[in-house]
Amino acid sequence: MKVRLGIDLGGSVIKAGIVSLSFKVLYRVEKPSRAEINKSEVKKSLNVVYDHLLGICRKRHYLPLSLGIGSPGTISQPLGKVTDASPNIKGWQGTVLTEVFGKTVFPVYADNDANCAALAEYLYGFKYRYKDIVFITVGTGIGGGLIIDGKLHRGNNYAASEIGHSILKYNGRLCKCGRRGCLEAYASVPNMLKRAYLWAKHYNQNLKPDIKPVELFSLYKRRNRVACKTIEENADFLGTSLASLVNILNPQVVVIGGGFSGAGKEYIRLIKNHIFQKAFSSSTCQLKVVKAQLGNDAGFIGASALTQVDKNGFIRKK
Ligand SMILES: [Zn+2]
Repeated sequence: MKVRLGIDLGGSVIKAGIVSLSFKVLYRVEKPSRAEINKSEVKKSLNVVYDHLLGICRKRHYLPLSLGIGSPGTISQPLGKVTDASPNIKGWQGTVLTEVFGKTVFPVYADNDANCAALAEYLYGFKYRYKDIVFITVGTGIGGGLIIDGKLHRGNNYAASEIGHSILKYNGRLCKCGRRGCLEAYASVPNMLKRAYLWAKHYNQNLKPDIKPVELFSLYKRRNRVACKTIEENADFLGTSLASLVNILNPQVVVIGGGFSGAGKEYIRLIKNHIFQKAFSSSTCQLKVVKAQLGNDAGFIGASALTQVDKNGFIRKK
């Protein structure tokens, strides 16, 4: 059976899988990326995952046709060089992703991790139903991917879709990227949790130390004042930035992915309300705002499908 391999490199975890040519996940695995140590440890971890996938292929008589890797940062084409790196993997800049695995008998492709997830939603999540997609993923950072007129929009220097670093507030909070006022500095998971403690102080309430997003959402469902304020504010931050993008791009669908998407329909509805309040009605009258369809698998499914995207972003059907 012919298959494709996909690897999704994150700041803490590598998610990877073996994917059929019709995008069905045949096998998945997760390993720590060890990004907190150094870049050679990350390369080693990637090779451990790769060898593991090859071992499974041999055992199950799968024939791998290609390998795709999604990584944070700006990834130039066609070599897959990291030209601007995420601060979550120290020293990652300059790495040529297609060379990390040594000599392979099949082609290796690489792209930005959120681009990969957007591609997976386009191909498999929505099965080509939408040709204009804004994809945002909210986690430790905030990533974005754009499909415009059925084409993966990488931009002139492959640096497009950095939705997390669109400016939400003029001269605002310092972001990890070194600039001020970025959406990520307000609405990423760690920053949302920081704001929860600020609101707890403001309302003179106690919040357990090291609270997890899932616990905050369960407090929200119980109408806890601090949780409500934090979640509603977070949806406002995201909705405001997305409204600007909706006015600029007039997409068919906005897709919300990442760790937050587990927060359920209510959270998506809050974000949707802010987009609809703040964008032109001509841009929103046919707009859908939905949760990502593929969850945690989107990154490696999209990476495995990079073989269908040419260097200009055109997406082939097969
Ligand atoms: Zn930033």
